[in-house]
Amino acid sequence: MRPDKLVNIHTHLHAGMDVPARVREWESHGCVKSVVLADSRYWQPPRSTYLGNEGVLKWMREFPDLVVGMGNVELGPEMGSPDDVSRLRDRGFRGLKLEMPARPYDDDRYMPLYERAEQLGMPVLFHTGWVIRLGEEDRGGGRSSEAMRAFTLDRIARNFPGLQVIGSHLGMPHAEEALTLLDGMPNVHFDISWDAADRTFISRLKRALAPFPGADWDDPDQNPALRYFEKIPFGTDDSSVGDWLPVAEELLDYLHVPAERRQDFYWRNADRIFGWNL
Ligand SMILES: [Zn+2]
Repeated sequence: MRPDKLVNIHTHLHAGMDVPARVREWESHGCVKSVVLADSRYWQPPRSTYLGNEGVLKWMREFPDLVVGMGNVELGPEMGSPDDVSRLRDRGFRGLKLEMPARPYDDDRYMPLYERAEQLGMPVLFHTGWVIRLGEEDRGGGRSSEAMRAFTLDRIARNFPGLQVIGSHLGMPHAEEALTLLDGMPNVHFDISWDAADRTFISRLKRALAPFPGADWDDPDQNPALRYFEKIPFGTDDSSVGDWLPVAEELLDYLHVPAERRQDFYWRNADRIFGWNL
């Protein structure tokens, strides 16, 4: 099926990318909002090609109706402050993208950042689960994917019930933790974005979201995935929308998710998180 509308809650832009062509690709698939995540210094050139706050801001200004920026606050040794959160809001960022923390996300030192985001009505998207390595760049660094485990969002969501919390990649490999929070915490959401060409990831998603053997796949009590998609927003990560849509449909078909619930996934869940009323 073709979605009525499409919102992409998790994507990136890169140095050297033909961004206008990428924007045309999004629009050709009915994308009305594309949430572009600004990344930490850790991922910016020369280590990698991801854009940070300044780079994303340029494209927010170029495509103000379509591009929604989530700004980055550093959680590494040179940590950002609550005033950095306010400055990002003043510059037009609608939420925060957080990743690569020196300590677990639920460490006391980060709580003032979340408090400010809650006050300002800024949803926060966290990288959760395993993160790819940068090779030699990781040597001697104190970073570990363990600090980004899905369950670290539990304390944050409890402490700040007015904060919209979005974990990414279903917290893989800790999908059970992600799904527990998704079900139990009204303000927690998870995206299932990843490289659309990675068939292994898609297979793992199917396994993580499928019911027990012998279940009635059309009964929400036996197939909780029918409920999960009330809270999972569509996101592509670095893949194009055109590459992700068939993968999403394959997954939704496999899980017996009905057409109406798919609209939640494709745009309504993100619309609720940001309070847009699209
Ligand atoms: Zn990403």
